[in-house]
Amino acid sequence: MSNPRFSAISKIADRNPVTVKIPSERISDYFGSNVFDDESMRKFMPEDVYKSVKSSIRLGTKIDRKVADQVATSMQAWAISHNATHFTHWFQPLTGATAEKHDSFFTIFPNTKGIENFIGDSLVQQEPDASSLPSGGIRNTFEARGYTAWDPSSPAFIMEIGSGKTLCIPTIYVSYTGESLDFKAPLLKSQNALDEAATEVVKFFDKNVNYVVPTLGWEQEYFLVDLDLYFNRPDLVLTGRCLLGNTPAKNQQLEDHYFGSIPERAFNFMVDFEKESHKLGIPVRTRHNEVAPGQFECAPIFEEVNLAVDHNQLIMDLMDRVARKHKLKVLLHEKPFASLNGSGKHNNWSLMTDAGKNLLAPGTTPKNNLSFLTFFVNTIAAVNNNADLLRASIASAGNDHRLGANEAPPAIISIYIGEHLTALLEEIEERVKKGPINEMEKQELKLDIHNKIPDLLLDNSDRNRTSPFAFTGNKFEFRAVGSTLNCAGPMTVLNTIMADQLKKFKAEVDNLISEGEKKDGAILRVLRRNISESKRILFEGDNYSESWAKEAEKRGLSNLKNTPDALALSLEQVNIDVFTRNKVLTEKEIHSRVEIQMEQYAKKIQIESRVIGDLAVNHIIPAAINYQNKLIVNANGLKNLGFKNAEIETQLNLLKRIQHLIESLRKDVVLMVEARKKANEIEDSAKRAKNYATKVKPTFDSIRYSVDKLERYIEDESWPMPKYRELLFIR
Ligand code: ADP
Ligand code: MG
Repeated sequence: MSNPRFSAISKIADRNPVTVKIPSERISDYFGSNVFDDESMRKFMPEDVYKSVKSSIRLGTKIDRKVADQVATSMQAWAISHNATHFTHWFQPLTGATAEKHDSFFTIFPNTKGIENFIGDSLVQQEPDASSLPSGGIRNTFEARGYTAWDPSSPAFIMEIGSGKTLCIPTIYVSYTGESLDFKAPLLKSQNALDEAATEVVKFFDKNVNYVVPTLGWEQEYFLVDLDLYFNRPDLVLTGRCLLGNTPAKNQQLEDHYFGSIPERAFNFMVDFEKESHKLGIPVRTRHNEVAPGQFECAPIFEEVNLAVDHNQLIMDLMDRVARKHKLKVLLHEKPFASLNGSGKHNNWSLMTDAGKNLLAPGTTPKNNLSFLTFFVNTIAAVNNNADLLRASIASAGNDHRLGANEAPPAIISIYIGEHLTALLEEIEERVKKGPINEMEKQELKLDIHNKIPDLLLDNSDRNRTSPFAFTGNKFEFRAVGSTLNCAGPMTVLNTIMADQLKKFKAEVDNLISEGEKKDGAILRVLRRNISESKRILFEGDNYSESWAKEAEKRGLSNLKNTPDALALSLEQVNIDVFTRNKVLTEKEIHSRVEIQMEQYAKKIQIESRVIGDLAVNHIIPAAINYQNKLIVNANGLKNLGFKNAEIETQLNLLKRIQHLIESLRKDVVLMVEARKKANEIEDSAKRAKNYATKVKPTFDSIRYSVDKLERYIEDESWPMPKYRELLFIR
């Protein structure tokens, strides 16, 4: 029998029905009803204010104070019409979570009874007392001021929690001296850089394009566990992952969970959080079971990167809140259960013009396809030239468990483009000459490229699941992103390196044109060079194989298996220069960010280490001793009845084995604590993080080994924590 504390789980009564109220079953009837979107703006704003805000959003220009006051008044009127009482600047500090501080609209002016009031100042800028948020040394505590500033490009929304409604205003977060302290400010800058660069290049093919935006469609993986069981696992509560525990006999080996029918309890939860998401204008569309038992995925229709990032942050928050109503806990950690699949967050990325044309979609005319090839090859070149930056953008303590384990993309960044595109690039490399190309050759080539495109589309079905960065027909899919990460990190890097690459490309093509070469010939020649130089990053084979690690090393590709190593590379001058020359981050900002991440990494491992020590010493060893006592009583009883030692070998052997494990466990915990002490003495944050990765973290393995063995020896009833078996199969 299971421990009575856990056996009452998943009773039918816990299968909470769908609770979120909606006005109609048709999503289109209430989609975005809690968003101050275009329709609400038109309704609540005077015409001239609306126009002025719209143009500021488009051009990224500052909204002047008078307009801001009017916007604030309209926004308040809208929010109050939805029964909101409070407002907050909603921002994304470098903690990884979102931050908010609520103020009521209600104020009392001298000699008045009090009214609802919201002025432009409160909309445009706030000064949260955020001295406890990470700043990596930019903001020392006595100059603790950081400002949140309204980001009009992401619409305000109303968050409903219980019966309370709060107007949330998306903002960026900067220091008193103007440095970015969050994920959003650099992201917006990277979008600008990319817009400028891509618009220039797209004009080679279409003079009518006014601007280009990057698009993002994320896929969020997660686990669901019973909330009561969750609270009985201190490791899950404090670190988000199981630091101990055996794989159950049946796990994912039958592959029966992936795309299987969704358990009712999970389904009801999904329906609820999707309804909440739809009210907030988050276009969630896909839901399905993932590979591991208890693992699921949701994905929206893609949006402009900035908005998609906000929506992903928002949905992670929403999922957690809604899950509680269903007595469930959402685990977003990259690796909650050792030996089962971890969770990722694929980032599907592309570029779109103001006319809605996808620049990474193969076209229907030869001209369109030269445009497609241009953006396609430049993405490959950007990744090849900046693979280390991409790797650093997904580095985290949690993601270290996935990258390099044989179920997720490896830590080596490479690109999969499929058989047909590989052949096409090879052909271009062969046929385009180093010197000028004549008109006939050029036309022939363009037509040939065009004729090959229908074949390329066939590759769509033939995807290489092991690749960290794959072309999937009309977008690139960055698969190595961790499930908890803010997409803004990797998206900022991808936008920036693409901007950088496109600027170089444009300059080179212009240069050839100025030397007398015709435009298309010049484009083809620069593409050819980029193809030749970027070949090492293309890989079609099995990314999990050992031979690839060896091959990658020969090709000079990095294989950075832990976070401190990956982060350290962002501080190399060539990498710093990419950010500074595109005006996305300053050198000081980069240093402070790396500092924060190194600190966070060390702290996370430190917490895990403390928890694993506590579990071993205060939970597992006492349980083992109790069980030993039972065995001793039993053995003595049998002896008193006249049994010889040879006849009670089962008990005696078990006692010995348990004793041996208790002893190794105790010794291993001492070794771990010593390693931690040494690490803590290191002043330099990068060196401390590295020490935590290489000296502290490895000590967890032997502790876990002993505990997991004990789990197999000790009677089920006395095991002090829910087992994987109980956690994983929600019914
Ligand atoms: P799969 O799991 O096979 O990769 P999904 O349907 O789960 O496919 O996810 C595809 C994702 O790609 C969705 O999030 C979708 O919004 C996104 N996507 C599709 N087209 C684009 C695009 N042009 N730009 C960015 N993301 C896109
Ligand atoms: Mg996918």
